Amino acid sequence: MTRRRQIYEGKAKILYEGPEPGTIIQYFKDDATAFNAQKRGTINGKGVINNRISEYVFTRLSHIGIPTHFIRRLNMREQLVRQVEIVPIEVVVRNVAAGSICTRLGLEEGEPLPHTLIEYCYKDDALGDPLIAEEHIACFGWASNEEMQDIASMAIRVNDFLCGMFAAINIRLVDFKLEFGRIYDGDFSRVILADEISPDGCRLWDMTSGEKLDKDRFRRDLGGEEEAYQEVARRLGLLQNDDSTPGEVFDLSAHRGRLRNSPPKK
Ligand code: C5P
Repeated sequence: MTRRRQIYEGKAKILYEGPEPGTIIQYFKDDATAFNAQKRGTINGKGVINNRISEYVFTRLSHIGIPTHFIRRLNMREQLVRQVEIVPIEVVVRNVAAGSICTRLGLEEGEPLPHTLIEYCYKDDALGDPLIAEEHIACFGWASNEEMQDIASMAIRVNDFLCGMFAAINIRLVDFKLEFGRIYDGDFSRVILADEISPDGCRLWDMTSGEKLDKDRFRRDLGGEEEAYQEVARRLGLLQNDDSTPGEVFDLSAHRGRLRNSPPKK
Protein backbone atom coordinates (compact mmCIF):
# COMPACT_ATOMS: atom_id res chain seq x y z
CA MET A 1 0.00 0.00 0.00
CA THR A 2 1.36 3.41 -0.85
CA ARG A 3 1.29 6.28 1.61
CA ARG A 4 -0.97 9.04 0.43
CA ARG A 5 0.49 12.46 -0.04
CA GLN A 6 -0.27 15.16 2.48
CA ILE A 7 -0.91 18.46 0.76
CA TYR A 8 -1.47 20.77 3.71
CA GLU A 9 -1.97 20.72 7.45
CA GLY A 10 -4.13 23.47 8.90
CA LYS A 11 -5.27 24.18 12.43
CA ALA A 12 -8.28 21.87 12.36
CA LYS A 13 -7.84 19.79 9.20
CA ILE A 14 -5.29 17.92 7.13
CA LEU A 15 -5.65 17.76 3.36
CA TYR A 16 -4.45 14.73 1.41
CA GLU A 17 -4.30 14.05 -2.28
CA GLY A 18 -7.56 12.39 -3.34
CA PRO A 19 -7.99 9.14 -5.29
CA GLU A 20 -8.73 10.91 -8.60
CA PRO A 21 -7.23 14.05 -10.12
CA GLY A 22 -9.08 17.14 -8.94
CA THR A 23 -10.10 15.57 -5.62
CA ILE A 24 -8.84 16.07 -2.07
CA ILE A 25 -9.43 14.22 1.18
CA GLN A 26 -10.23 16.46 4.15
CA TYR A 27 -9.29 14.89 7.48
CA PHE A 28 -10.94 16.53 10.53
CA LYS A 29 -8.72 16.78 13.60
CA ASP A 30 -9.71 17.22 17.24
CA ASP A 31 -7.24 20.11 17.57
CA ALA A 32 -8.75 23.45 18.49
CA THR A 33 -7.11 26.84 18.26
CA ALA A 34 -8.30 30.33 19.04
CA PHE A 35 -7.01 33.89 18.91
CA ASN A 36 -4.88 33.21 15.86
CA ALA A 37 -3.50 29.97 17.37
CA GLN A 38 -2.26 31.68 20.56
CA LYS A 39 -4.59 29.34 22.45
CA ARG A 40 -4.36 25.66 21.59
CA GLY A 41 -6.18 22.59 22.85
CA THR A 42 -8.14 19.51 21.94
CA ILE A 43 -11.86 18.95 21.85
CA ASN A 44 -12.37 15.20 22.13
CA GLY A 45 -14.30 13.82 19.17
CA LYS A 46 -14.65 17.24 17.51
CA GLY A 47 -13.27 15.99 14.19
CA VAL A 48 -15.85 13.21 14.02
CA ILE A 49 -18.72 15.56 14.81
CA ASN A 50 -17.58 18.36 12.48
CA ASN A 51 -17.16 15.88 9.64
CA ARG A 52 -20.81 14.80 10.11
CA ILE A 53 -22.19 18.30 10.62
CA SER A 54 -20.34 19.71 7.63
CA GLU A 55 -21.46 16.81 5.44
CA TYR A 56 -25.05 17.46 6.48
CA VAL A 57 -24.92 21.23 5.97
CA PHE A 58 -23.14 21.06 2.60
CA THR A 59 -25.57 18.41 1.40
CA ARG A 60 -28.57 20.52 2.43
CA LEU A 61 -27.04 23.57 0.76
CA SER A 62 -26.46 21.67 -2.47
CA HIS A 63 -30.16 20.81 -2.45
CA ILE A 64 -31.00 24.52 -2.69
CA GLY A 65 -28.54 25.01 -5.54
CA ILE A 66 -25.44 26.27 -3.73
CA PRO A 67 -22.42 24.79 -5.53
CA THR A 68 -20.02 23.24 -3.00
CA HIS A 69 -16.78 21.28 -3.00
CA PHE A 70 -18.32 18.40 -1.03
CA ILE A 71 -18.46 15.03 -2.82
CA ARG A 72 -19.03 12.45 -0.07
CA ARG A 73 -18.06 11.47 3.43
CA LEU A 74 -15.56 8.62 3.42
CA ASN A 75 -15.41 7.61 7.07
CA MET A 76 -15.62 9.02 10.61
CA ARG A 77 -13.03 11.72 10.06
CA GLU A 78 -12.63 12.11 6.33
CA GLN A 79 -14.57 13.47 3.40
CA LEU A 80 -13.83 13.60 -0.30
CA VAL A 81 -14.04 17.09 -1.78
CA ARG A 82 -13.26 18.80 -5.06
CA GLN A 83 -9.89 20.43 -5.28
CA VAL A 84 -10.28 24.18 -5.51
CA GLU A 85 -8.05 27.21 -5.63
CA ILE A 86 -8.95 28.89 -2.35
CA VAL A 87 -9.99 32.54 -2.62
CA PRO A 88 -7.84 34.14 0.12
CA ILE A 89 -10.81 35.79 1.81
CA GLU A 90 -12.76 34.79 4.89
CA VAL A 91 -16.39 35.77 4.48
CA VAL A 92 -18.02 36.48 7.84
CA VAL A 93 -21.82 36.77 7.96
CA ARG A 94 -23.33 38.35 11.08
CA ASN A 95 -26.93 38.47 12.26
CA VAL A 96 -26.32 39.39 15.90
CA ALA A 97 -23.42 41.30 17.46
CA ALA A 98 -20.82 38.98 19.01
CA GLY A 99 -17.08 38.47 19.02
CA SER A 100 -14.74 40.81 17.22
CA ILE A 101 -17.40 43.26 16.01
CA CYS A 102 -18.29 44.03 19.65
CA THR A 103 -14.69 44.90 20.52
CA ARG A 104 -14.18 46.80 17.28
CA LEU A 105 -17.35 48.90 17.39
CA GLY A 106 -18.25 48.87 21.08
CA LEU A 107 -21.43 46.85 20.59
CA GLU A 108 -23.10 44.80 23.28
CA GLU A 109 -22.96 41.04 22.71
CA GLY A 110 -26.39 39.76 21.70
CA GLU A 111 -27.57 43.04 20.12
CA PRO A 112 -29.38 42.16 16.90
CA LEU A 113 -27.79 43.99 13.98
CA PRO A 114 -30.05 46.34 11.98
CA HIS A 115 -29.57 43.96 9.08
CA THR A 116 -27.32 41.07 8.11
CA LEU A 117 -23.76 42.20 7.71
CA ILE A 118 -21.08 40.65 5.52
CA GLU A 119 -17.46 41.31 6.45
CA TYR A 120 -14.31 40.23 4.65
CA CYS A 121 -10.96 39.28 6.17
CA TYR A 122 -7.73 38.61 4.32
CA LYS A 123 -6.72 34.98 4.92
CA ASP A 124 -3.23 35.36 6.30
CA ASP A 125 -2.31 33.79 9.66
CA ALA A 126 0.88 35.83 9.98
CA LEU A 127 -1.16 39.04 9.73
CA GLY A 128 -3.95 37.70 11.98
CA ASP A 129 -6.55 37.60 9.15
CA PRO A 130 -7.13 41.38 9.05
CA LEU A 131 -10.52 42.90 8.25
CA ILE A 132 -10.51 44.31 4.72
CA ALA A 133 -12.83 46.32 2.50
CA GLU A 134 -14.07 45.20 -0.93
CA GLU A 135 -11.74 47.88 -2.33
CA HIS A 136 -8.73 45.92 -1.03
CA ILE A 137 -10.02 42.77 -2.72
CA ALA A 138 -10.35 44.58 -6.05
CA CYS A 139 -7.12 46.54 -5.64
CA PHE A 140 -4.97 43.47 -4.95
CA GLY A 141 -6.91 41.20 -7.31
CA TRP A 142 -7.81 38.60 -4.67
CA ALA A 143 -11.15 38.09 -6.42
CA SER A 144 -12.84 39.71 -9.41
CA ASN A 145 -15.94 41.91 -9.06
CA GLU A 146 -18.00 39.19 -10.67
CA GLU A 147 -16.67 36.59 -8.22
CA MET A 148 -17.43 38.93 -5.31
CA GLN A 149 -21.01 39.32 -6.52
CA ASP A 150 -21.39 35.54 -6.62
CA ILE A 151 -19.75 35.18 -3.20
CA ALA A 152 -21.98 37.81 -1.57
CA SER A 153 -25.18 36.42 -3.05
CA MET A 154 -24.24 32.86 -2.04
CA ALA A 155 -23.34 34.06 1.48
CA ILE A 156 -26.78 35.66 1.87
CA ARG A 157 -28.57 32.56 0.57
CA VAL A 158 -26.52 30.33 2.86
CA ASN A 159 -27.36 32.61 5.79
CA ASP A 160 -31.09 32.62 5.06
CA PHE A 161 -31.17 28.86 4.69
CA LEU A 162 -29.03 28.13 7.77
CA CYS A 163 -30.95 30.61 9.97
CA GLY A 164 -34.12 28.65 9.20
CA MET A 165 -32.44 25.27 9.53
CA PHE A 166 -31.02 26.12 12.96
CA ALA A 167 -34.18 27.94 14.13
CA ALA A 168 -36.05 24.68 13.52
CA ILE A 169 -33.86 23.06 16.19
CA ASN A 170 -34.10 26.04 18.57
CA ILE A 171 -30.66 27.43 17.73
CA ARG A 172 -29.91 31.05 16.80
CA LEU A 173 -27.32 31.45 14.07
CA VAL A 174 -25.43 34.47 15.39
CA ASP A 175 -22.60 34.56 12.87
CA PHE A 176 -20.39 32.28 10.81
CA LYS A 177 -17.44 32.19 8.45
CA LEU A 178 -17.42 30.87 4.90
CA GLU A 179 -14.60 30.17 2.48
CA PHE A 180 -14.88 29.88 -1.27
CA GLY A 181 -12.69 28.31 -3.93
CA ARG A 182 -12.31 28.46 -7.70
CA ILE A 183 -12.78 25.53 -10.01
CA TYR A 184 -11.65 25.70 -13.62
CA ASP A 185 -13.35 24.39 -16.71
CA GLY A 186 -11.17 25.21 -19.69
CA ASP A 187 -10.85 28.98 -19.88
CA PHE A 188 -13.69 29.52 -17.43
CA SER A 189 -13.72 29.44 -13.68
CA ARG A 190 -16.41 29.77 -11.04
CA VAL A 191 -16.49 30.04 -7.29
CA ILE A 192 -17.99 27.33 -5.10
CA LEU A 193 -18.39 26.96 -1.36
CA ALA A 194 -15.39 25.23 0.22
CA ASP A 195 -13.82 24.41 3.62
CA GLU A 196 -16.38 23.35 6.27
CA ILE A 197 -19.43 24.59 8.15
CA SER A 198 -19.41 23.42 11.76
CA PRO A 199 -19.53 24.81 15.32
CA ASP A 200 -15.82 25.65 14.86
CA GLY A 201 -16.72 28.49 12.50
CA CYS A 202 -20.23 29.47 13.60
CA ARG A 203 -21.71 31.07 16.70
CA LEU A 204 -24.74 29.00 17.68
CA TRP A 205 -26.85 29.98 20.70
CA ASP A 206 -29.69 28.00 22.19
CA MET A 207 -32.76 30.15 21.49
CA THR A 208 -34.31 29.58 24.89
CA SER A 209 -31.38 29.66 27.30
CA GLY A 210 -28.86 31.62 25.24
CA GLU A 211 -26.34 28.86 25.96
CA LYS A 212 -23.38 28.84 23.58
CA LEU A 213 -23.12 25.68 21.48
CA ASP A 214 -19.93 26.49 19.57
CA LYS A 215 -16.21 27.16 19.77
CA ASP A 216 -16.72 30.14 22.09
CA ARG A 217 -16.94 27.52 24.87
CA PHE A 218 -13.29 26.73 24.15
CA ARG A 219 -12.24 30.33 23.38
CA ARG A 220 -13.72 31.61 26.64
CA ASP A 221 -12.90 28.63 28.87
CA LEU A 222 -16.57 27.91 29.50
CA GLY A 223 -16.10 24.14 29.50
CA GLY A 224 -18.52 21.59 28.02
CA GLU A 225 -17.28 22.08 24.45
CA GLU A 226 -17.51 18.36 23.57
CA GLU A 227 -21.08 18.23 24.83
CA ALA A 228 -22.00 21.43 22.97
CA TYR A 229 -20.77 20.09 19.62
CA GLN A 230 -22.58 16.82 20.28
CA GLU A 231 -25.75 18.70 21.16
CA VAL A 232 -25.73 20.48 17.79
CA ALA A 233 -25.22 17.16 15.99
CA ARG A 234 -27.92 15.49 18.07
CA ARG A 235 -30.47 18.24 17.33
CA LEU A 236 -29.68 17.93 13.64
CA GLY A 237 -30.54 14.24 13.94
CA LEU A 238 -26.99 13.11 13.23
CA LEU A 239 -26.37 11.15 16.42
CA GLN A 240 -28.42 8.24 17.59
CA ASN A 241 -28.08 6.74 21.01
CA ASP A 242 -27.42 3.33 19.45
CA ASP A 243 -24.54 4.73 17.39
CA SER A 244 -21.87 2.06 17.50
CA THR A 245 -19.07 4.60 17.82
CA PRO A 246 -16.94 5.13 20.91
CA GLY A 247 -19.09 5.96 23.90
CA GLU A 248 -16.90 8.85 24.92
CA VAL A 249 -17.72 10.65 21.71
CA PHE A 250 -21.36 9.79 21.40
CA ASP A 251 -22.77 9.10 24.84
CA LEU A 252 -24.94 12.19 24.92
CA SER A 253 -27.35 11.30 27.65
CA ALA A 254 -24.48 11.08 30.11
CA HIS A 255 -23.24 14.53 29.14
CA ARG A 256 -26.32 16.52 28.30
CA GLY A 257 -27.27 17.37 31.84
CA ARG A 258 -23.76 18.66 32.50
CA LEU A 259 -23.75 21.14 29.67
CA ARG A 260 -26.02 23.75 31.19
CA ASN A 261 -24.15 23.90 34.50
CA SER A 262 -20.66 23.08 33.31
CA PRO A 263 -18.24 25.09 35.45
CA PRO A 264 -15.51 27.20 33.88
CA LYS A 265 -12.30 25.26 33.30
CA LYS A 266 -9.40 26.02 35.59
O1 C5P B 1 -13.96 36.47 15.73
P1 C5P B 1 -15.14 36.99 14.99
O2 C5P B 1 -16.21 37.55 15.88
O3 C5P B 1 -14.76 37.96 13.90
O4 C5P B 1 -15.77 35.72 14.25
C1 C5P B 1 -16.96 35.80 13.51
C2 C5P B 1 -17.38 34.38 13.11
O5 C5P B 1 -16.48 33.85 12.16
C3 C5P B 1 -17.41 33.41 14.28
O6 C5P B 1 -18.50 32.53 14.09
C4 C5P B 1 -16.11 32.66 14.17
O7 C5P B 1 -16.23 31.33 14.64
C5 C5P B 1 -15.86 32.68 12.66
N1 C5P B 1 -14.44 32.75 12.32
C6 C5P B 1 -13.77 31.62 11.91
N2 C5P B 1 -12.44 31.68 11.58
C7 C5P B 1 -11.77 32.84 11.64
C8 C5P B 1 -12.43 34.00 12.05
C9 C5P B 1 -13.78 33.93 12.40
O8 C5P B 1 -14.37 30.55 11.82
N3 C5P B 1 -10.48 32.86 11.30
